[in-house]
This record gives sequence, C-alpha cells and structure tokens, in this order.
Amino acid sequence: MKYSITTTKVKASKVNTLDFNNIPLGTTFTDHMFVCDYDNGQWVNPRIEPLHLIPTHPAAMALHYGQAIFEGMKATLDTHGNPMLFRADRNAARLNTSAERMGMPNFPEDLFVEGLKQLVALEHNWIPPKAGSALYLRPFMYADEPFIGMRAATHYKFIIMASPAGPFFSKRIKLWAEKQYIRAAAGGTGEAKAAGNYAAAIRPTELAKAKGYDQVLWLDAVEHKYIQEVGTMNIFFKIDGQFITPKRDGSILDGITRMSVITILRDKGYEVIERAITIDEIKAASKAGKLEEAFGTGTAVGIAYIQEIGVDDQTIHVSNESPVGLEVNNTLDAIKTGKIEDKFNWMIKIE
Ligand code: PMP
Repeated sequence: MKYSITTTKVKASKVNTLDFNNIPLGTTFTDHMFVCDYDNGQWVNPRIEPLHLIPTHPAAMALHYGQAIFEGMKATLDTHGNPMLFRADRNAARLNTSAERMGMPNFPEDLFVEGLKQLVALEHNWIPPKAGSALYLRPFMYADEPFIGMRAATHYKFIIMASPAGPFFSKRIKLWAEKQYIRAAAGGTGEAKAAGNYAAAIRPTELAKAKGYDQVLWLDAVEHKYIQEVGTMNIFFKIDGQFITPKRDGSILDGITRMSVITILRDKGYEVIERAITIDEIKAASKAGKLEEAFGTGTAVGIAYIQEIGVDDQTIHVSNESPVGLEVNNTLDAIKTGKIEDKFNWMIKIE
C-alpha cells in the first residue's frame, strides 16, 4: 500500500457506555479519529488517534475567512455483520470539487477511502446493528494556518470523525418556498459542501420553522422561481408518471443519494428527467391532480416525503399515493445492508 497510516489506540473503548437502543443524534462520537496535515505543499503524517481536542490558534484562517469544507456518509453492516461503505469514492471526489472551489488543496482520493476503511474497521463495534441505523462519518478539511490576510492558507487539516446514528424515521415534511433569502447563485459556492453555505442557511431555516414549516425550499437567486433543493437534501417530483429533479447547474449539491436514486428509478423502468423546474409548474401540476410524489433525498434520511409546500400565501399539496420513492428507499437500504445484490457496484467492503 502507498500510504502508511499509523494507529494509536485508546486504552479502553467507550463503546459499552452507549445505549444502542437510544442513540442521541450527533452528540456521540467514537473512540478514534483519522487526521492528516497539509504542510509544505503536501499531505503528511496520516494517522488514527484517540479522539481529542485540536489546539487552535485564534488566527486560524478557517475561523476568519471560512476555508472549511466537509462530507457526510455512512458505514453499515451487511447480513453477516461485516462493515461496508456506500460510494465513498464519490464523497472523495466531491470533497475535491469543494476544495477546488474554495481554493483549498485536493486530498488524495485513495487516502480518503483508505483512511475511512481503517477508521471504520477499528470502530466496527460502534456500528449500530438495527435496521436503518449506521455509523455516520464526517470527513472535513479546514485551514489551520494562523494568518491575518486574504489569501489561500498554506496549512490545513483533514480529519474524519465517526458518530453512531440510530434509525431515522422521516415524517412527511412541510416546506417553505423561500423568496427573500437565497442559498446559492450562479458562480457562487452552491455546489461546494462549504461550511459557509450552511451558516447562511441557518437564519432562513429558523424563520421557516417559526412559520410552522420543517425545511426551506431553495429557489434560484435571480427570479426566485426555479427550484434548487430542500434544506440539506436534493428534491424529486413525480408529475404525470415522470420523475423530474432539478438539473445540476453549479448551484445545487451533487447529492450522492440523488445520483443513486436516479440510477435505481431508471433501473426500475421509470423515466427521470434532469431539468430546470419552476415552483409555478409544481403549483399547476398539483392543481391539475398530476403532482403524484415529491420527496427530498440525502444521506441522513434516505428519502423524506414532502406533504405540502407553502409559497407566498398559498399551499401546494402533494398526494404521495402509492409512492415509488418508498420502493426506491427500500432498494437503497437493501443494497446498503447486503440484503440484495450490489448490482451497481456501490458498496466498498471493509475486511
Ligand atoms: N444538498 C445539500 C445542501 C446537502 O447538504 C446534502 C447532504 N450532503 C444533500 C443535498 C444530499 O447529498 P447526499 O445525498 O450526498 O447526502
């Protein structure tokens, strides 16, 4: 192997302090983390260490100029209890798309996958076995060079943390079509999984929640009519038998669930079109009784059904009768847990 990853283990694992029947979301972390430093123009010293605080200089550039990107993915167990990763190569590629947009160095994609594999192998006992559960993995990169001044940093850290996640039962969600605030504009950072994109989404999401909605439906920056995505998910509609999802134009995230759902739908014989779609078209389809399904897709939930969309002073209703999306979600889950053949070659086994 090209990379030698050194491993320092904890003296005693904390895994037996976790109640696997009641896993708190996002606050439990496994014993170890993967760390790698960018120094003198190269990634050096890849290592797995006990999870620890990272001393940070107050001038660390990520804190001031926002060079910070991340990924999100899951490790699951197959029917024999062996851990697997879902399309980790796609996350590695997407991290580098984000890195390029944010003026950050690429991270070697094979080291990304190898670091994940070794970390997950070591944290095997933390993967919750219950259906729908997984070990959530959070690779991220940030500028840790202490410097005041506007330029690309010369020193970065790449880290992978892991956090067990219980089964997620998604209720039907209500969306607010946002016309005042935007998530991304053409030429901006919408396609990057950059920390700042999420910071800018927090306030509009809070306002939508105060109005009784669950998530924001993001519209284009210029005309506020083209649909981009929803909260931290991509979006699909089924209108008159045909699936439609907004096409990638640089301002939506290239979701790995999105690309997988497109593949599965087409494999099941459905037509899927990637094109620009307006909120008015959705309104008209609903009125005509042709809006058959609407759902969001993302790593955290798989598929989240949309019950209604608030736009201006109107409500768009979605029927969601005999949902095909549910069938797709079941197929995705079955692939991720080795219950059916991995016919698209998506799973990466961990020995
Ligand atoms: N859009 C945004 C803004 C997201 O944060 C995510 C979650 N990564 C997605 C879409 C869905 O992407 P994926 O299917 O890769 O989780």
